[in-house]
Amino acid sequence: MPDTSKSNLKPNAALFLDRDGTVNIDTGYIDSPEKLQLIPGAAEAIARVNQAGVPVIIVTNQSGIARGMYTEQTLKEIHHRMDELLQEADAHVDAYYHCPHHTEGIVPAYQQACKCRKPEPGMFLTAAAEMNIDLSKSVMIGDKRSDLEAGLNAGCAAILVRTGNGVKTERALDSSLKSNISVENSLVNAIENWLK
Ligand SMILES: [Mg+2]
Ligand SMILES: [Zn+2]
Repeated sequence: MPDTSKSNLKPNAALFLDRDGTVNIDTGYIDSPEKLQLIPGAAEAIARVNQAGVPVIIVTNQSGIARGMYTEQTLKEIHHRMDELLQEADAHVDAYYHCPHHTEGIVPAYQQACKCRKPEPGMFLTAAAEMNIDLSKSVMIGDKRSDLEAGLNAGCAAILVRTGNGVKTERALDSSLKSNISVENSLVNAIENWLK
């Protein structure tokens, strides 16, 4: 269990992060550890959150598993590689949650509608229960509309970053959603402002 006692401003807060296009460069379906490349500055920014004592949780849609493109085991190896890359900057992720499902999947075990695929808030609710997190004090950062909606559906604040699909997402935002989120150039700026 992460120690959040150092974080006086935001007790039981967590930082939820989308993975592809937010922490690592989105090169399409990441189906092997070798394809993982961090966005410049992302690891250092995550290290600052670690130092603040706030848990960092990745919530990622991985329908490639339902689509038979890679397996749960490969995903584990990809996240192990992410841990190694983050470690180089003394950064770490406290927990990974992923949704392997998709209604159009070809692997029967994962071919289903579910409550965890973003924009559904299932991964956030599970994390909150398992890690004693106050979602109303937490934030979700991501590059797609489904990230923002999932964060808001879970009761978190939501920040759009202009990395990955972020610029495209921003252009397509309707004003009602736009008024409920903030927009930052990258994870670095988003974390800097959130920690203020
Ligand atoms: Mg993304
Ligand atoms: Zn799911």
